Amino acid sequence: MKKAFYHCDIFTLDHEKIIKDGMIITEDEKIAYIGKMEEERLQDCEETYNWSGKWVMPGLVNSHVHIVMNILRGVGDDMLLHPWLTEKIWPLEAKFTTDLAITSSKAAIVEMIKSGTTLFNDMFNPIGLDVFKLYEAVKDTGMKGNLAYTLFSNDKGDEAIAKEAYDMAQYIKKDRSLIRTTVAPHSPYSCSEELLRSSVSIAKDLDLPLHIHVSETEKEMNDCLSEHKATPVQYLADLGFYEQPTIFAHGVVLTDEDVALLNEKGTSIAHNPISNLKLGSGVADISSLNRAGVNVAIATDSVASNNNLDMFEEMRTAALLQKGTHKTPEAMPAYSMLKMATLNGSKALGYEDTGVLKEGYKADFISIDPRDKVHLQPLENASSHLLYAASGKDVSDSVINGNVVMENRVLLTLDEERIIYDLNYYYKTL
Ligand SMILES: [Zn+2]
Repeated sequence: MKKAFYHCDIFTLDHEKIIKDGMIITEDEKIAYIGKMEEERLQDCEETYNWSGKWVMPGLVNSHVHIVMNILRGVGDDMLLHPWLTEKIWPLEAKFTTDLAITSSKAAIVEMIKSGTTLFNDMFNPIGLDVFKLYEAVKDTGMKGNLAYTLFSNDKGDEAIAKEAYDMAQYIKKDRSLIRTTVAPHSPYSCSEELLRSSVSIAKDLDLPLHIHVSETEKEMNDCLSEHKATPVQYLADLGFYEQPTIFAHGVVLTDEDVALLNEKGTSIAHNPISNLKLGSGVADISSLNRAGVNVAIATDSVASNNNLDMFEEMRTAALLQKGTHKTPEAMPAYSMLKMATLNGSKALGYEDTGVLKEGYKADFISIDPRDKVHLQPLENASSHLLYAASGKDVSDSVINGNVVMENRVLLTLDEERIIYDLNYYYKTL
C-alpha cells in the first residue's frame, strides 16, 4: 500500500540539509520516495496525510531500556545502584505476574511512541513470568525493537536459566515479527562465569547480538579488578564476548585499553546519561569514545532510574554533559548527537535499514508540529530546536514500518486510557 506524507519540512539526517515543503511516499514498510513536494505523486497513493507545516525526522532509537519496569517509576529514588537493585528493585520484580508485566510493558511502549521513539532495545527480568505470553502481547503493539530475557544467576540454576533464554530467543527469532531479540546477561557482577560463557554460546548458536550492563560504576570496576584481575570490558573479552555484535549499556568507567578494545571489536555503547546521573554513577566520556571510533548510541534505561523515557530530554542532557565536562561547547555538536540517537542506535541494535530517511530504508519517522508552540520559534532555526528546545511531548505523529501508530498524539494501536487504569491497579498489588 502506498501512503503520502506531504507539505512537511524533512530532516533526513542522511545529510544536514533540510527538505523544505517535502514529501515522503511509503510503499508497505519502506520509503519509496523522499524529496520535494510533487502534487502528481499523490494520485496513486491510497492514503494521504497533509502534514503542512510539520517537521519530520527519523524516529528515535532507545538503545537500552527495561520496559517491564515502567510500573516501578518513583520507587527507590536517591539510592546508589547496588542497594537500589538489591533492596528495592529486585524484591519488587520478584512479585511481578505476567499480566502486570504486560501492562507495564505496554505503558512503556505508549510512553516511547508518544515521545518519538520508534525502535527500542530492552532486557527484562523474567522471574515468575510467562515470557512467551509477554512477547505475544508486545509484538501486537505496532512497536519495533528487541525484547530480551535477562539472564542472571539465581536459585533456578545457570543451566535452567540458559535453556529458558535459549528457547525464548529461538522462538522470537523464528517468529520474524517487528520484535526481535538479543542475548542479554544482566552484568558481569550478577552472572556466574559459566552463565556468561553460556550467553556467548547462545548468541553464536542463534546468531544474535549480546546486550549487557558493563562498567556502570567505580564499585563494579574495583570489584572486577580484585576478583578477576581484569576490567569488566577485558573480563568479558576473556569469556568470548565480542565474537558476536555486542551492546554495552553504560561504559561510565573505562580505561584507555578498554576504549581501544571496544573500538577494535566494533562494540557499541548505549549511553544513559540521566540514569547515570540519578544513581550517582558518573558521566560516560562519550565524546572521547566517539572520537576514538566507538559507536555510541543514546538510551534512557528504565523509568525507575530516569524517571521517564523521553529521548529528546536524554539527547539534550547527553550533549550538555559533554560540553560541561570537557569545558568546550565543541565537545558535542548538535548534529552528532541527533545521529547518535537515530543512526548509531539502529547500527548498535543490528538494524541496517533504519535511522535515516532515504529511499529503500524502513519508513520509521516522527513529526512535530511547531506552529502553535512558542518554545519552538523562530521556525527558521528548526534544526537547533530539535536538540536544544524540543521535548518528547511535542511529537505529533509516529510512523513505524510504514504503519501510522500515532496521529495528532492519538495512539492507534494501544488503548492508552485502559493501560493507565490497569497500571495503577497492578501497582497496588505489589
Ligand atoms: Zn539497565
